[in-house]
This record gives sequence, C-alpha cells and structure tokens, in this order.
Amino acid sequence: MADRLDCLVVGAGAVGLAVARELARKGREVVVAERAEVIGGESSSRNSEVIHAGIYYPRGSLKARLCVAGKALLYEYCAAHQVAHRRCGKIIVATSESQLETLRGYCASALANGAGALEWLDGEAVRELEPAVAALAGVHSPSTGIIDSHDFMQSLLGELESSGGALALNAEVTRIERDGDRLRVAAEGYELDAGWVVNSAGLEAPNIARMLTPNAPAAYYARGRYYAYSGPSPFRRLVYPVAEPGGLGVHVTLDLGGQARFGPDVCWIDRIDYGFDDSQREAFIEAIRHYYPALDESRLHPGYTGIRPKITAPGAPAADFRIDGPAKHGVPGLVNLLGIESPGLTASLAIAQAVAAIVEGQPRI
Ligand SMILES: Cc1cc2nc3c(=O)[nH]c(=O)nc-3n(C[C@H](O)[C@H](O)[C@H](O)COP(=O)(O)OP(=O)(O)OC[C@H]3O[C@@H](n4cnc5c(N)ncnc54)[C@H](O)[C@@H]3O)c2cc1C
Repeated sequence: MADRLDCLVVGAGAVGLAVARELARKGREVVVAERAEVIGGESSSRNSEVIHAGIYYPRGSLKARLCVAGKALLYEYCAAHQVAHRRCGKIIVATSESQLETLRGYCASALANGAGALEWLDGEAVRELEPAVAALAGVHSPSTGIIDSHDFMQSLLGELESSGGALALNAEVTRIERDGDRLRVAAEGYELDAGWVVNSAGLEAPNIARMLTPNAPAAYYARGRYYAYSGPSPFRRLVYPVAEPGGLGVHVTLDLGGQARFGPDVCWIDRIDYGFDDSQREAFIEAIRHYYPALDESRLHPGYTGIRPKITAPGAPAADFRIDGPAKHGVPGLVNLLGIESPGLTASLAIAQAVAAIVEGQPRI
C-alpha cells in the first residue's frame, strides 16, 4: 500500500466497492482495504439478493430515497455490464384481517417514495399469480427483482481496477488517527496517510467510527437464518409476509436458477457469529405456513445466516442509513457509513454517489 494516498475505503462489500469505483471514476486515487482474503464475504453475500422497490421506508428517509435511486441505477448497471439479474416481481401478502391495514400502508408509502404503484390483489388474484400461496389479499410490486450479488461485486471490482483503483486483501484496519487535515491509518503492519477514509466496514463500521468520533452509535447484531427448499420451486415470484420488527419477515426468495429459499428470521445476538442454530426450526416453519400451508418440511434444509448491521437496540425503532461526513461529525476527511442494512445492496450505487459528492465538496444529502 502507498504511504500517502488520496482515498482509502475500509471494507470490500458491495457498498465499499461501489464507493471505491465511483471515486476512482472521478479520477481519485483509491485503495480498498479488506480484512478478509476475499471480497464480499459478509453481509453482501449473506442476504436475500433482492433488488428492492423502496416500499417500506419512511418518506424522505435516506433508505427510501437511496433505495429508489439505487434500484434504477442498479438495473441500468446490470444491463450495461451483463450482471445476472431478473425483474421477477414480488407479492406481499396479508393472512389476517389485521394485516390488511399494513398492506394499504405499503400502497401509500410506495407512491410517496416514488417506488411505483403497487397493484392490489384479492385472495383469488393472489392465487392466480401464485397458486401455492394462501392469503386474504396481497399487493404486487412489479419493479422488485433479484441479482447475483457476487457477479455484481466482481463487476464493481473490475471497474475499480480499470479506473486505476486497487484492492488490498488481508488488510485489516486496526487504527485511525487524526493528523491535521489528514488521517493516519494502520492496516496489518502498514502505516499510511490518507486524505479521505470512507468507513464502509459493515458490521464493524460503528467500532471503526468510534476510533475518531466517540459519539458514533454502538453496533447491534440481528442474525437471520435462510433455509434452502429443495426440488422445484412452488413460486415464480418473491413472496413476502407483512414486515416484522427487525426485518421484512420470513419470505420466499429465488436465486437466478429458480431455486427457492426461505428467510431470514430475526435473532438478536451479542457478537458476530454466523453459526446456524437449527433448534428454532418449528417457529420458522410456522411463520412460512401462514402463507404457504403446503410446505413440505422434509424439503427444508439449513442454508446460511446473515447478520443485519443495526445501530439501534432490540425494540427501538429502526434507524435510517447514516452517511456521516465532516459536516456531521467535524473530522476532516472521514465518511462513516453506519447502519447500512437492507436495502443497502439495492442502494449501493446511490450511496456511492452520495459519498463521492461529500468527497468532492458538494454534499447532496
Ligand atoms: C439477512 C440480510 C438480508 C438482506 N437482504 C437484502 C436484500 O435482499 N436486498 C438489499 O438491497 N439488501 C439486503 N441486505 C442488506 C445488504 O446485504 C447490505 O446493506 C450490504 O451488503 C452492505 O454492504 P457493505 O459493503 O456495507 O457491508 P459488508 O458486505 O458487510 O462489507 C463490509 C466489509 O468490511 C470488511 N471489514 C470489516 N472490518 C474491517 C476492518 N477493520 N478492516 C478492513 N475491512 C474490514 C468486512 O470483512 C466486509 O467484507 C440484507 C442484509 C442482511 C444481513
């Protein structure tokens, strides 16, 4: 790694790589420091791989704005760079009278957020679209899709490198200190001096932020399990229940080969641990049976887990994304990306533009 550098991005997940690519394309000298020996080994490869429409988030929030903007950028990017994806659509279903109000709320928030109108479906219309699903009513989101997140990250890395940027693997950032208007960074035995540091370290981002900004929020972790569903998929689209505290509910997602998986549930944990705990299998099955009564348990197999990078404690309202630049925390050259949970994959290219605007001295958010 160079001793003196323009921009250092900490973390090579989808967001860090998107930020680094954007900065490199603007002519900045950029290095991404990643502690693992591969890119994207954490949240960016342990998620639902859904391109979200922008339905759930409060109007005007960063999540709403960056999801809607990011979705458009992502579809454009995938088409231009041959990244595997499919605009398969999704339905969100209500299985009790009390959930109908929530569905109506989604219709209103989708319109308010610019996510595109949702189509209201009665129970019969739900069955016409997805015969395996039992529901009182549903809404259809045609702009929701799926993406191969590995393909996307490899593409971003290729673009970064062809714009002159570089990736350093096995390079854990262990210390950042202020040095006048610049930042001194220690990573695996190297010391370097950076004009800008973009902290895109996902689950570790709050801990890194607190090296320089002690008032940064604490990190909380909400783990979710995914089960693979073997055999042919009973669904053609993504199927979601109404959202639950901490997550979007145990839903059906499809990979690009058409294989179905269910997840993720919500289990708050104290430390980063991707272990798969199969002991709560019954609760998981029950959640699915609400909308898919014909579930065949013998086809359900433990898959993988992902951990949501939360910045609010269990029970507290969900936090918005935080893109904290010098105007927010007062440390020149530092941008902290905090709480970049779902829809962070969808929003990654829009987050990258927002960070680049801060670095260019023209913040837009
Ligand atoms: C269960 C789950 C489901 C989700 N589903 C969706 C979805 O369907 N659609 C969607 O849009 N979003 C989804 N998300 C959100 C999305 O996955 C994340 O917002 C996105 O992947 C975040 O990317 P990132 O680059 O910020 O973080 P990460 O992918 O976590 O990358 C952070 C990187 O930083 C590295 N790192 C950490 N500490 C250091 C250090 N000290 N030095 C160097 N490197 C370091 C890590 O090794 C890691 O590679 C989901 C998230 C979860 C957990």
